[in-house]
Amino acid sequence: MVASQGRMGGAGRDGVARATWVLMLGLVFNPSTGYAAESRAAKQPNIVVIYSDDHAYQAISAYGDPRRLLETPNIDRLAREGMRFNRCLVPNSICGPCRAIVLTGKYSHINGFYNNSNSRFDGSQPTFPKMLRAAGYQTAIFGKWHLVSPPTGFDSWCVLPGQGVYYHPPVIRDGNREQLTGYVTDRITDLALDWLKSRDKSKPFLLMCQHKAPHREWLPAIRHLGHDKDRVYPEPPSLFDDYSGRGKAEHDQDMTIAKTMTATDLKLTAPKGLTADERKAWDAYYTPRNQAFQAAKLTGADLVRFKYNRYLHDYLGCIKAVDENVGRVLDYLDQERLTSDTLVIYTSDQGFYLGEHGWFDKRWIFEESLRTPLLARWPGVIQAGRVDDHLVSNLDFAETFLDAAGLPIPSDMQGRSLVPIFAGRTPADWRTSFYYQYYEYPAPHHVRPHYGVVTDRYKLVRFAAPDDDSWELFDLKTDPGELKSVYGDPTYAQTTVDLKRELDRLRGVLRVPAEPPESAYGGSVRPSPARTPR
Ligand code: CA
Repeated sequence: MVASQGRMGGAGRDGVARATWVLMLGLVFNPSTGYAAESRAAKQPNIVVIYSDDHAYQAISAYGDPRRLLETPNIDRLAREGMRFNRCLVPNSICGPCRAIVLTGKYSHINGFYNNSNSRFDGSQPTFPKMLRAAGYQTAIFGKWHLVSPPTGFDSWCVLPGQGVYYHPPVIRDGNREQLTGYVTDRITDLALDWLKSRDKSKPFLLMCQHKAPHREWLPAIRHLGHDKDRVYPEPPSLFDDYSGRGKAEHDQDMTIAKTMTATDLKLTAPKGLTADERKAWDAYYTPRNQAFQAAKLTGADLVRFKYNRYLHDYLGCIKAVDENVGRVLDYLDQERLTSDTLVIYTSDQGFYLGEHGWFDKRWIFEESLRTPLLARWPGVIQAGRVDDHLVSNLDFAETFLDAAGLPIPSDMQGRSLVPIFAGRTPADWRTSFYYQYYEYPAPHHVRPHYGVVTDRYKLVRFAAPDDDSWELFDLKTDPGELKSVYGDPTYAQTTVDLKRELDRLRGVLRVPAEPPESAYGGSVRPSPARTPR
């Protein structure tokens, strides 16, 4: 990838800023020189977090999915001018829990937010926005919050109630309900830009711009209906996965494009909340296509293919608006000459399935839901165009932002600062294994609770349910699509022993309780008597 800095601010000014940061980082990373305290007194960067909901890395063109689903030129700018992380893993692949992990730098079993069904974020606990604010940062969050309790640690906030809606969304601003007009992704960005314009320019800032899109039910802006000109999308190799070679969990889930998608998901019924003009445009796009679909009386694979293509039109339409709005934020930073002093990251709460294994949604330890996109730009620290394959995580974000601001990282946070990786100086003892645990069960989607260990090559997974206490092992080198468990294969006997030992070690280091509280699952039935892994 060719580095491009053509759209950044004035070269001379940037040059000075970059030199300052390179010098600072040298000092910070060599505490034996005794200059660490002096370094922290240097200028603190602004931090912009653009965070979307359920954005699959497969739907960012910089990630190079072979289907070439769409172009995301603005998000790609961050990859071109910054760096792309290929394996940013989430500890618990579901919306609310990932947001709690980002704020606290701690796993679900420590921060207490396990699931989207009955968890409520304890806003009194330490979070990185609180720490940045205490250190003089102005802090603000706009858009999707989804942690039930009111936001804490922000000077300003304006968030969607619950999941939020796409068209003309109500919001809660500093505790008071307001009604916005327009498309949610545009309006969240408006809120963020309005705040940037009115901020105290003498202080550094933390801005979290958190989109609802592209979360289900994938409602695009009216301007993006038909964006793909009725393209027939290439299919992932596992669109018609029969789950052979794997256990009960994969067979019993309820998150397939074939069976789980509803008429609302598929836009066979119109959404609420459109104006008359919007409804007219909506009907002009969907009605003739839906009539043709009904007349065709599709069945079997043809029906799945219709659903897959409708899903991608709608999902990718939502991404089009996210990408445009990322461009608006980056343009503003350029115009205000803030680009060189600002760490910008683009990420999603978790990954998502776009037809792999026949699925939509998330939850699994498997790659498409385990990996979230992460692009980071920080001129002077991150060399443009870098690509990184280390096992990093959204568990590391809080630590990263504190470190970037020159603040101490609390010892009970469970991730590590990415700043050394940004600077091209990955510590020799960087993690080579990662612990995962998913809880929410049985509803929605009936994905069995599981935990496991992930390395660059392997995944060892234990499922736990009353009728299913089983292990699976995947070798990503020979089976990148994760289609066949090799657990029990004698070839992998020693690997299995080693991975179980590592799983035990991680559970100990991370203080994972032998038995999660009953409420962790969010359902009425305890999935399993917990046992220590064997
Ligand atoms: Ca999500």
